[in-house]
Amino acid sequence: MKHITIILPVLLLLAIAITDQSHAQQRFPAPEFESGYEYPEVAAPEPRTLALEYVDVMVLLGFMLLTSWLVIRKRSRQWILWLSVLALLYFGFWKGGCICAVGSLQNMALSFSDPSYAVSYTVIAFFMLPLAFSLAFGRVFCASACPLGVIQDLVVINPVRVPVWIQRSLGIFPFVYLALAVLYAATGTDFIICRYDPFVGIFRMGAEFHLVILGISFLLIGMFVARPYCRFVCPYGALLKVTSMFSKYHLSITPAQCIQCKLCSGSCPFGAIEKPTTGKLMDDMKGRSGKFLLYAALIPLLVLVGGLTLSSAHVFLAKAHPDVYLAHLLIEEPAIINDPDNLDVQTFLASDRTLEELVVSAGEIQATFRTGTRYAGAFIGLVAGLFLVSQYVVRRRTDYEPNRGDCYSCGRCIRYCPVQKQDA
Ligand code: SF4
Ligand code: SF4
Repeated sequence: MKHITIILPVLLLLAIAITDQSHAQQRFPAPEFESGYEYPEVAAPEPRTLALEYVDVMVLLGFMLLTSWLVIRKRSRQWILWLSVLALLYFGFWKGGCICAVGSLQNMALSFSDPSYAVSYTVIAFFMLPLAFSLAFGRVFCASACPLGVIQDLVVINPVRVPVWIQRSLGIFPFVYLALAVLYAATGTDFIICRYDPFVGIFRMGAEFHLVILGISFLLIGMFVARPYCRFVCPYGALLKVTSMFSKYHLSITPAQCIQCKLCSGSCPFGAIEKPTTGKLMDDMKGRSGKFLLYAALIPLLVLVGGLTLSSAHVFLAKAHPDVYLAHLLIEEPAIINDPDNLDVQTFLASDRTLEELVVSAGEIQATFRTGTRYAGAFIGLVAGLFLVSQYVVRRRTDYEPNRGDCYSCGRCIRYCPVQKQDA
């Protein structure tokens, strides 16, 4: 393993150099022709660009197939690691983190709410493929095809064990982020996953300062708290977690009978290995069935409270939309129209829209937010209720097993199982 810590930075520097050259070509100003020739406007994607998008889909499919084989059949951490480095170079540093499955959920949300928004087959493929593979093989996309996950995985050097209750409690946040991301995308307000993607600035070697700091902070924290973005932020990871729970062929730690040696128990930096359930634990859980029923009965109430609470903040949340923000600004501070430094206001004044039109548009958007926040809040309430109930559900296990929802199929634990070593 030591040699990879030397080779990896070299590969990353190589990737940066390649990426820089390709971008340098784009930055070069276009020549002006003395004949008066003007560049034609490109109204539709150029065929070559479209072809490259299809290439990306095929590359993603290739990564997913190969990772699934490495995880389920070959059971090799070493190969999974090398493949993940390739994915980081291609989808991260070469493609600049775009197109990406994580952000694609926003395109999907907007296409459902706005029929005039056409979503490309490429985006649909990037959204669907990881979910479909997760349903079959677990989170193989997270293992070695997602550049956001891989860049964090490579910096894990001394992972600390996060207490289970903290890990589970913070695990709700990706679902909250998912609800907000869908809300903002579906209302045509913003793509917040992309706007606050902490790693895209690193991939592109340039972003707003606060985003670069955010990305570096995630990587520094990630040295000790493995994959912090994946575990506590990623909204697409929330979807993958759910599909992976039902995966048909998930990675198993041992290829044969578990001999209960416990060697794998501390090997997962993400705390995703679950112990066998002892008879005492099962008896304890039986004694807590009253709490299970109580929390299950509370779910409808949590859904209602969640919906009402978030919808009470719909005016505040809607102000992220430019029309709502501007309408409030012009109504609450009418003197601002004399401020020549306020570009938002000056751009609006230079347009042919009237204040009445702006206010009508803002009202419609706020109404959409009122409905959207009800659904989003209800969803968050449902997740909170299911989280509470899940504390009182224990599946009978005889072996050490990966938690299918939390396991990133990284393959680290496989190496610790002596059964496999004997078989190999
Ligand atoms: S959890 Fe999200 S960011 Fe992490 S690897 Fe999976 S999809 Fe990528
Ligand atoms: S394969 Fe899953 S359970 Fe095993 S170390 Fe990786 S994330 Fe943990």
